Amino acid sequence: MVKTICVYCGSREGSSPAIREAAFELGALMAKENIRLVYGGGSVGIMGIVADSVLDHGGEVIGVIPKGLFRTEKGHQRVTQLIEVASMHERKARMAKEADAFVALPGGLGTLEELAEIATWAQLGIHNKPVAVVNIENFWIPLLQFLDQAVSFGFLDPEKRAIVRDVDSVAAVLQALQEPLGPISGPSLRPSDI
Ligand code: AMP
Repeated sequence: MVKTICVYCGSREGSSPAIREAAFELGALMAKENIRLVYGGGSVGIMGIVADSVLDHGGEVIGVIPKGLFRTEKGHQRVTQLIEVASMHERKARMAKEADAFVALPGGLGTLEELAEIATWAQLGIHNKPVAVVNIENFWIPLLQFLDQAVSFGFLDPEKRAIVRDVDSVAAVLQALQEPLGPISGPSLRPSDI
């Protein structure tokens, strides 16, 4: 059973009210289902909306923030636990360790990088935790098309393409995270190999 979800999402609010609404909805749903949030620790953008919503609905939030890197910007003041780490790399490893599933809401380069890395770690056998994108406003369609293209060009096995699950609504996301990933062929690294 999923107890902690790591959410990757924009550090900006973006222009779509539907995406902001989905972030709020995801936070409310997680709190209602007693699922803890682990995330990048910021108070800004879609990240801030998700974290505020979890907290406002009575849930728990762990923020993982690199010392110094966000000196110019305050970490979220109300999180249940704020973990300071030494670097961006350490932060991603720590977020991955704390979570038992991963969800990407819309975001920019940072979100894309985090999602790509956690899916790559699954591909390498480092973890078998489920990964899903929430496709609000069809936001992730170009990424999903890219993955399909990588399969058709022989750069990605269909079984590994399936690592990135997609749902169209926040309401559907928990169902998509029920099952851990199946066995994946190829290298089988361990978390200590990160
Ligand atoms: P982006 O999609 O480029 O806005 O980057 C968002 C992702 O990168 C989030 O999931 C965070 O983990 C991380 N991140 C980027 N900017 C910040 C910030 N100002 N505060 C905390 N985390 C951030």
